[in-house]
Amino acid sequence: MTSYDFAVIGGGLVGSAIAYGLARAGHQVCVLDEGDVAYRASRGNFGLVWVQGKGQEIPLYSEWSMSSASLWAGLTDELYDLTGIRTQHQAPGGVHLCYSADELSSRQSALESLSRATQGRFDFDMLDHDQLRQLIPEIGESVVGASWSRLDGHANPLYLLRALHAGIQHHGGTYKSCGPVRRIRPEAGSFIVDCERQQVHAARVVLAAGLGNRDLAPQVGLSAPLAPNRGEILVTERMKPLLNLPTTYLRQTGEGSILMGDSHEDVGFDDGTETHVLSHIAQRAVRALPALANTRVVRAWGALRVMTPDGYPLYEASETYPGAFVACCHSGVTLAAAHVKRLAPWIAGDTPPAEISPFTAERFHVQTATPV
Ligand SMILES: Cc1cc2nc3c(=O)[nH]c(=O)nc-3n(C[C@H](O)[C@H](O)[C@H](O)COP(=O)(O)OP(=O)(O)OC[C@H]3O[C@@H](n4cnc5c(N)ncnc54)[C@H](O)[C@@H]3O)c2cc1C
Repeated sequence: MTSYDFAVIGGGLVGSAIAYGLARAGHQVCVLDEGDVAYRASRGNFGLVWVQGKGQEIPLYSEWSMSSASLWAGLTDELYDLTGIRTQHQAPGGVHLCYSADELSSRQSALESLSRATQGRFDFDMLDHDQLRQLIPEIGESVVGASWSRLDGHANPLYLLRALHAGIQHHGGTYKSCGPVRRIRPEAGSFIVDCERQQVHAARVVLAAGLGNRDLAPQVGLSAPLAPNRGEILVTERMKPLLNLPTTYLRQTGEGSILMGDSHEDVGFDDGTETHVLSHIAQRAVRALPALANTRVVRAWGALRVMTPDGYPLYEASETYPGAFVACCHSGVTLAAAHVKRLAPWIAGDTPPAEISPFTAERFHVQTATPV
């Protein structure tokens, strides 16, 4: 049986970013990935590297997202130098479009409170229609304004995933498409991981299996109360440049396609599409950019977000089985740079980043009421 410093279970964006971070620091890493039949948010997402609006309830999440956004350009250059793969990362700022005066005003209040909670480190501007038109000349009349943040951007998540996989290999790591991991057996301070087709031994194990973490976590004294949340995305044919910065619902890829999305559906493990949802997404997109009205949609899909009960990430080290960790989040593109450069070093033994302290599963446990 082959032995590694780390077995990372899950080869999506979270597992691959952590594995790459560990491998670049010189650790022997093996990524064990279920493969094509698994639910894989990393292959069906929208590609935003997004900060604005995040962390309303837990401002440290805003700090964590800002940290990652600030590390993204360095990660993209590093991956390009190493692998020749460009992630298409750009950080021109981003806008959240508002379709009514009420929406604009409640957006402003929410972002003001987030800015106060971060002592002004999260900053933003509100734009009226005319100011927005300066940024997006094709913007539709029914968009009354937008919030704008210089911290936002986007990337191609598939190229990111490919670059991380190539980077892991470059640093001597191994990727095994081995079917689902069924069992993790703690043994003499290390772990034996049973996949469908083989076993590996590792000194430490990182559970980064997205929704699969739910079943794996209890085997190493952890808990991952995750649920799927579906998002549907439509993709147009390639177009001339229409959008030179990303928005929450729309972005233009490096190749020229427009991606439209951002549905949030509680439909269990159904990763299909529904016409009424796609229709709503398309109509909202045409209101934002009337030029889309005569454009052909060439693809549409649904994919499942990896959601904790409050939507914030889960990063935890097992107390019962030291050396076992769990990591999952619903912003694996945005947080990829922090996962490589700050989370992986913690998993390898450094002090934890201060921003992740609230993100253990303890926050989901029902507190025993104190008798009066
Ligand atoms: C529609 C949609 C839009 C999104 N938009 C954005 C966005 O704009 N920006 C952003 O930052 N994030 C976005 N996200 C979220 C982002 O995609 C996820 O946070 C990220 O992909 C999660 O990565 P992951 O590796 O945890 O999970 P996954 O991508 O689901 O990967 C989990 C991996 O684990 C493997 N696995 C599962 N079970 C097992 C097992 N038992 N044994 C071995 N392997 C196993 C699977 O094969 C899979 O490869 C979006 C998600 C969706 C669905």
